[in-house]
Order: sequence, then C-alpha cells, then structure tokens
Amino acid sequence: MPLTATRWLAEYAWLPAHAEPTPDVLIEVEDGRISAVTPLTPGSRPPSGVDVYADAVPLPGLTLPGLANAHSHAFHRALRGRTHGGRGDFFSWRERMYAVADRLDPDTYLALARAVYAEMALAGITCVGEFHYLHHRPDGGAYDDPNAMGAALVEAAAHAGVRLTLLDTCYLASTVDGRPLAGPQRRFGDGDAAGWARRAGAFQPTDSHARVGAAVHSVRAVPADQLRTVADWARDRQAPLHVHLSEQPAENDECRAVHGRTPTALLADHGVLGPDTTAVHATHPTSADLTLLADSRTGVCLCPTTERDLADGIGPARRMADAGIRLSLGSDSHAVVDMFEEARAVELDERLRTRRRGHFTPVDLFATATAAGHAALGWADAGRIAVGARADLVTVRLDTARTAGVPPVGVFFAAGAADVDQVVVDGRVVVADGRHLSVDVPAELSASIEAVTPS
Ligand SMILES: [Zn+2]
Repeated sequence: MPLTATRWLAEYAWLPAHAEPTPDVLIEVEDGRISAVTPLTPGSRPPSGVDVYADAVPLPGLTLPGLANAHSHAFHRALRGRTHGGRGDFFSWRERMYAVADRLDPDTYLALARAVYAEMALAGITCVGEFHYLHHRPDGGAYDDPNAMGAALVEAAAHAGVRLTLLDTCYLASTVDGRPLAGPQRRFGDGDAAGWARRAGAFQPTDSHARVGAAVHSVRAVPADQLRTVADWARDRQAPLHVHLSEQPAENDECRAVHGRTPTALLADHGVLGPDTTAVHATHPTSADLTLLADSRTGVCLCPTTERDLADGIGPARRMADAGIRLSLGSDSHAVVDMFEEARAVELDERLRTRRRGHFTPVDLFATATAAGHAALGWADAGRIAVGARADLVTVRLDTARTAGVPPVGVFFAAGAADVDQVVVDGRVVVADGRHLSVDVPAELSASIEAVTPS
C-alpha cells in the first residue's frame, strides 16, 4: 500500500447530497486535497481487457469522508473499564478521573494522547476536538512553558496522523457560586478569564494539522462575569467556542438557584451562544433553551456513549434537529471510541425514549458524523468527498463478520470501529489493512495507561 497516491478507486463512496453510497468512484488527490471525483458509469468504463484505471489504488468496501470526533478528553481513556465496580454516578466517576489527572505531566500526557489519538485514527477519525483544561502543574503552578500540556497534545496528534482543534478551556471555579478550585482542580485554573486569555493567546502552533479554539468549561466552572472575556477572545479570532451544557439536572438546579435562570439563558446573556459555538451534551434543556440555541445558530455535540456510561440521560436529539440545531458527535470520555456507535445511538436512543423507530435517516447520521463535526471544529473544508475538500478517505470493509451482507447505506447501523480498514488524512495514509502505520496502538495504550493509573 503506497503512503500517498493520487488516484483511488473506491468500490463505493458516499458523496455529498447523496442518500446512499455510489459504486465505482475514482477519487483523485493533489497536495492533500481532492482534485476530482468521477463516478464510473458502465458507459464511462473502457472495453473489457483495457484498464486505464490500473494506476488507481483500489479501495474495497465503502469509502467515507473523515469522521470527526468533536469532543474529547484524551486522558479519560485511562478510566475505561475501571469505574464499573459499584454504584455511583457522574460525580463518583469524576473523583476517579481527578486521580488520573493528578498524575499527568507533559511527557506522560504526550504518550497517552498519542496512543488515544492513534486509537481514534484506527476508528476512522481524522479530526479531533480536544477540550483541554489540564494546563498547569498539579499544585497549580505554571510549567516553564505555560502551554506545555497543550503542546504535548498537538505533538500527540501529529504522531497519530490526525488533525486537532485544541479547545483551550477556561476553568476557574469549583461551584456555580464561585468557590475557588481546590485539590486536583488547581491545575485547571488561570486565576481569571484575563489570565486564561493571556496564556491561551500565547499558544500559536504553526503545524498545519492543528488549530486553537476556546472553551468555557461550564457555567459551574466559569463565573458569569468572566464568560464574555472567553466569548470575545474566540470571536476576535473567528475560532470555535465550545461549552459543556446541562449534562446534569444538578447543573440546571444550581444555576437557577444562583443566577435565577438556566445555564443556556446565562450563556445567552453573556454572549457565549452563536454560530461558531457548540454546546456539548445539552442533555437536559428546557423548550426555551432549545429556542435560544436555535435562534443563535449554536450547534450541539451529542456524546451518546458517554452520556450512557455516566447515567446522564438522553438528550432531545430529534427536537433539536427539528428546531434547526446542527448536531455533531463526540466520544468524550472514550468509554467507547467508535463514531458508528455514537451515530446510531442518536437514532436508537430516540427509539428507546419514544418506542417508535425512524427518527433519523442513514444520511442524517452520516452528515452528523462527518461534515457537521468538522464544521464544529473549524475545519469547514473537510468532511466531504468533493473537489477542493481535504483528502480524508475512510474505508470500511463490507466483508467482515459484522458487515457482510449489509448494503452500503446500512453501514452506520452495522459497522464498528474494527471494520475500518484504511484511513487517509490530508492525502497521507495513516491506517492500512486495519493497522496504524506508526503507532502500536494496543501496546502504547497499555504502557501509557499503566503509567498514570493509581494502583
Ligand atoms: Zn466533556
């Protein structure tokens, strides 16, 4: 398998505005961009015995544009399978998460994130949004380079061969009424939003695979009078702005008690909502909240496998889509790294709630996992197999035990991450024959997780 190719011949490719995949598509690439897309109709094929496409590399299976993982906390991957021993909820899980956070430094985080992002590449994810708040030393003091942890994440994504939007996260308080950070949270803070903006603004990676956006951790962690500073910072840079929103009913209750309004209304009052903003989760919005999100053209990133894992609840995905809110997807805590599973959960969770089927079409789920996620991360030129788009090609086998006999249009209801066979990011092959070309993913996950998990 060549590391780069200029001509690929997809057995099937899912093209924009098509309700289902198209057979026999020639995809040509120049300088990391798609330069031509040509469906080969029977009439356009040469007579048998003549093969003018012999120099095109065949892609057996279904080729999708890159999948986008719009919400990640890379270090949460170290908790997979370790938090199921007893009862508990989001908050008991959070205590375990803080114990891992306490043990990370720029070197151990680079090793862990490199393995996690490579696991994502194996799953067909070509772009990740890292909601990053592990800024400082465990005691809250700055590293010599105050952005050493962010730089480690950018480097990790380069090693893994995926693009990264580093959503530098403002995290200042431990409660909605503004109590200071304590214990393992101290390393998240920058004092105030102006301090956050100074540090975040000093980090300007020049690598072409990375860009910087902003995040408000939540209305719990950023006091109301600091919100606008973060929103303005992002707007001045035309950078994506993300925010955890209404993941827990408790967040709504506390916000109402302190501010007399819902978290969504508070964000609206302080200029956080808008077309470049993505609310993460939005599991427990009111009807008025949905109107505020829709009217401001704020997107929502659903994280169904994490919301399931943490017993958060089921967000009103269909109502959001009906209101015109664009939906993207994230694997968040990485209990599962599989965008097919996230995508089908959007439909299947609606079925559980309503006891009816057929809320989202396959093409809805396809768009949510691809173009919508890239747009939410500020890469509007990715997520489509179209001329001019970034050459991200994710090929899913249709002959595995899971996908054999499945029509290509059914892939989001049948396939899993293990069915991804080849991944091209910006024209470069990152995964071939189901193997990452530069990272031994299982070995590096084991070693990097062992290094940071309390025994
Ligand atoms: Zn999150």
